Amino acid sequence: MNSQMSKKLWRKALKEHFDCTCVYCGESFELSNLTLDHVIPRSAGGETIASNIVPACQKCNQKKASKPYLEFMRTTFGVNRLREYVLAKHTQ
Ligand SMILES: [Zn+2]
Repeated sequence: MNSQMSKKLWRKALKEHFDCTCVYCGESFELSNLTLDHVIPRSAGGETIASNIVPACQKCNQKKASKPYLEFMRTTFGVNRLREYVLAKHTQ
C-alpha cells in the first residue's frame, strides 16, 4: 500500500468514526463534503495526528479558521455540552 492510499483510508476512517458528521455543528454530510480540520491549528503548533484531526463541514472549517475550537463553537452555536464532550474525548 502506498502512502497516498493509506492517507486516503485514514481520512475515510476518521470521517466514518464520527458517523460523517461535522464535529462542530453536528450535521451529517456526504463523506466527500467533509473536510478534515486541525482542532489546534497548525499555526498554533497543532500536529497532524489523529487526535488533533476531526471532520468538519466546509462552512465550519472556514469560519473556525485559526480560532480556538471552544471559542469558535460557543460564539457560533452557544454552549453544547455533547459536542464539546465528543471533541474533548477525541483530543485528550
Ligand atoms: Zn459544520
